[in-house]
Order: sequence, then C-alpha cells, then structure tokens
Amino acid sequence: MNKALEQQLVELLGPDSVSMTDIERRLYAHDMAPVPKILGLVWKFMPDAVVRPSSVKQLQQLMKFAHENSIPVVPRGRSTTMMGGAYPIYGGISIDMTARRGIIELDESAGTIKVKAGTYWEAVLKFLEKRGLTLYCYPTSAPSSTIGGWIGNGGVGLGKGGLGIGSSKYGYAADTVVDLGVVLPTGEYLESIEATELKAEDFIGSDGVLGIMDTITLKIHKLPARQEPFCYDFKDFDKLCSAVAEIALLKPFFLLIEDKVMLDFKKLAKLHVPMAQNLLTVILAGDDEAQFKLDIQTMGKIISAYGGQELSKEIAKEEWQGRYYAMRHKSAGPNLLGGEFCVPTSNFKESIRRVKKLGVAKNIQIAIHGTLGVNEVLVMPQVLSDERKKFRYLTMMSLVKELNDLSIKLGGIPYGVGLFNAFYAKEIHGAKLAELIRLKKSLDPRNIMNPGKATHCSTRFRITLPKFAYGMGMRGLGLFVKHGG
Ligand SMILES: Cc1cc2nc3c(=O)[nH]c(=O)nc-3n(C[C@H](O)[C@H](O)[C@H](O)COP(=O)(O)OP(=O)(O)OC[C@H]3O[C@@H](n4cnc5c(N)ncnc54)[C@H](O)[C@@H]3O)c2cc1C
Repeated sequence: MNKALEQQLVELLGPDSVSMTDIERRLYAHDMAPVPKILGLVWKFMPDAVVRPSSVKQLQQLMKFAHENSIPVVPRGRSTTMMGGAYPIYGGISIDMTARRGIIELDESAGTIKVKAGTYWEAVLKFLEKRGLTLYCYPTSAPSSTIGGWIGNGGVGLGKGGLGIGSSKYGYAADTVVDLGVVLPTGEYLESIEATELKAEDFIGSDGVLGIMDTITLKIHKLPARQEPFCYDFKDFDKLCSAVAEIALLKPFFLLIEDKVMLDFKKLAKLHVPMAQNLLTVILAGDDEAQFKLDIQTMGKIISAYGGQELSKEIAKEEWQGRYYAMRHKSAGPNLLGGEFCVPTSNFKESIRRVKKLGVAKNIQIAIHGTLGVNEVLVMPQVLSDERKKFRYLTMMSLVKELNDLSIKLGGIPYGVGLFNAFYAKEIHGAKLAELIRLKKSLDPRNIMNPGKATHCSTRFRITLPKFAYGMGMRGLGLFVKHGG
C-alpha cells in the first residue's frame, strides 16, 4: 500500500516533495505537547506520507487524489499548537504547508497584505516594519508559526480563532482577516472565499477540517506613533489580578502576567529574570499623543492603588523583547504540561484563586502565565513535567481536564479545540458548532480533511469517544497525581 501511495504522490508532486521515511513521518506525528506512547493504541498519529506542495496546482491535485481515494489529509504549519490538531489520528497524508511561503501582494491603499499560508508571522512583520507598517495582531509564536496555522487554530472557536499580541486592542484572529484562497477537500480552488457563498469566518478557527487555506489577506496599518513597554512588580499576586481588570479598560496593545512560580521556573532553567515577585508587563500603543499620555497617567494610578512598583525601562524592554519565548523555561522540566483557558476578565482573579487551590490539593507547583484578550484573559497554568516518567506524565494530563472544567464554571472556555479539547467543542464553538458540522458534511462528504477532530473526538477505529468516558478516565488518572503517580 505504501509503495503504491509513494508512487502516486511522486507522480503528482515530484520526488523532492514527498517523504515516506520512518524518521520523517515520526516528526510529523506530534505537536508541541508530547503525547504518551500508549495513546498510540487509541490513535494512529503516524502519517503514511509527508508531502510539501509548493503550488496551488499541486495542492489541488493532491486533494483531488485524496478525495477520490478517501485518504485522510492533515494540513500542518509548524505544529506549534498543543491540542493534537496538526497531526493525524487515522494516519494518511500530512501536508506540510511551509513550502507555500512568501508575500504575494502589499496593497497600502486598501490597507491589506496577501500572503501564502505557510509564511511565518515574523517574516510578514519584518517585511511590513521596513515600510513603516504592521499587523493588527499575531501570535506570540510569530518566529516559528505560520499564518495558516494561527488562522486555522481553534482558539476561542469558529469565526473568531486565536488571541495573540494586539488582541487586547484590536480583536481576535478573525478580525484581522480580509479574505482567503481555499482549496476544498474535492480539489476545487476558491481564489477568493469572499466572492463565494462561503465566508472567511467559516474557516477561521476550524482546525483545518474544512479545507486548506492557501492564501490569506490580512489587514495592516501604519506603525503607531507611540508605543512603550512598562513593567511592574507586585508583592501580592491577588492585587496584580485586580489591577489587570482595570488596566484592561485602557485597551493596551499587549499585557502579560507572570507569577512568582513562573519566575522560579525561569530561574531553574537558568534564564535571566528581573528581581521581582510577580511581573506585569504592559505595552501601550497609539497615535494620539494626548490620549497616550493620559493612559500612562491612568495606568500609573491603577498600579499605585494596588501596590505595584514600576521597574526600569531596560527591564520593560527586555520583557517586551522576550514576548516570543513564552516556553523557554521548558528545559527546567524538561517538559511543560499545562492547561490553557479563557475566563472573562472580571473572573480572572477568581480563576487564579481556584488554580492555586488545585495546586495545593494536588501538591504540585502551578505557575501562571496570562495574556489579556478582547474581553477575557488567556490563562496558561503550567507545571514542570518529564515525559520520560511515563505513568506520572500520563496521570498529570488529568490536570488539563480539571483546569478546563474550572474555566467553564467561571463563564470561560478551554482554549483551542484540535483533538484533545474536542470534548469541549460545544462550549468553545458555541452556537457555531452546528454550522461547523453542517459545513463539514457539505464541503467534505468523504470526511478526509483532518478527520475525527474539532467537532468531536474520534479514535483510530472511527468511534467517537463520549465525553463521560473521557471524564472517567481523567478522574481515574487524577487519583494518582497527589501520590506522585
Ligand atoms: C511559544 C508559543 C507561543 C504561542 N503563542 C500563541 C498565541 O499567542 N496565541 C495562540 O493562539 N496560540 C499561540 N501558540 C500556539 C500556536 O503557536 C499558534 O496557534 C500558531 O500560530 C499555530 O501555527 P502553526 O503554523 O504551528 O500551526 P499548526 O500547529 O501546524 O496548525 C494548527 C491548526 O491549523 C491547521 N492548519 C495549519 N495550516 C493550515 C492551512 N494552511 N489551512 C487550513 N488549516 C491549517 C492544522 O491542521 C491545525 O489544526 C503558541 C505556541 C508556542 C509554542
């Protein structure tokens, strides 16, 4: 079967764009979160082939071939997500989009830039910055993640997508997208999705289950006249959380929260850390000088009211420059395991209280990393872990469920859907879940596009796992956490 598949793919794409080697396929069988080997019994993570199409024509031919032969395909950017969205669960073909890279058109008068989906965010930012321009928002993984990957990423659900740098001022990933060029599962190419009955929003946050985004047109704007980082130290993390709720009203460009445990993890990883208890970094940006000054004054008052101390400008700049490296402390683990959830800004403080309580009950150190979203805070509680301690690592996965459930109780949602959060598809996609299911059935009748995810969690045997089974399994594993697994 694999020899025949290899031959057919080589005929379609040429030998340099196809890889069937064991080692390469293994590299495409995971994302940023290591998956315990035992889960291979439930899912077939290894693709049968890895391909790197470099033209839209190749993508079309590939999809037509996969459709005719009912072979699962999984679009992949750089696999920097953590929910199992970017690798297969039934095997099939992994489509590495990074050969579809480059800027297609900058249209300053329209305020847009059209790029190929496999382009890295940082490359687009650098291109724009040289011309005095910039993007509205982008993920903190910008140096290593693709445009298509973030726009495809489930984030806060269909039609909204991810939260990133700039979201607290300008909105969700969807708010920055103007148009998409999409290759449908049948191989049909829609050069401008907005010129059809479909809309870009139908694909944003869909986890690649509806089609392959080949080009993406993003909104751009002039670099702001003023942009300045500020960094504060808070003895009391509770008070930092209260300050965040008030600073959110100023709509900063970016706001990053790191608690004492996070700073300790960084020290363990031998990273340079400012002398501080709990850190709050805020980036203000704007064109109106008077408003900018007023915002600085207001923020100063909020900080003083909650007992924060401003740190030097050098520290603030360093923290801003370090925004892309949110996981550099991973080596202290040597793995990080964590949840990722959103809660309304008004419930952020309470969510932290509950996360810390959970840590005490389980006897584990949970670090807090948080960023401000549109009306919510994206919280990433993290624990140091070690995938080599297999059973312990497996049991610690139960923590993710507890954190997800905690967010829902506070009016929030788990962040990102993919495979492992598909149990929460109803909460994350909300009313749009029905639309996603309808679109999936109509655009992908043979269910070949990244199947078994985003709307439900399927196994390699194409059986949907019920949420209660997941709940029971995780509760069972959770029993071992406190006792060291
Ligand atoms: C240090 C770090 C910081 C991060 N910061 C953020 C952040 O600020 N905000 C955030 O939301 N996430 C963040 N993430 C998670 C992740 O990096 C982003 O969501 C990222 O943009 C995903 O891009 P990728 O190219 O790695 O996509 P992948 O992980 O490869 O893919 C993500 C999903 O999109 C689908 N997909 C990929 N390409 C296409 C395509 N062309 N067409 C259709 N579907 C496609 C995949 O099938 C998959 O379901 C971070 C991760 C790390 C490691």
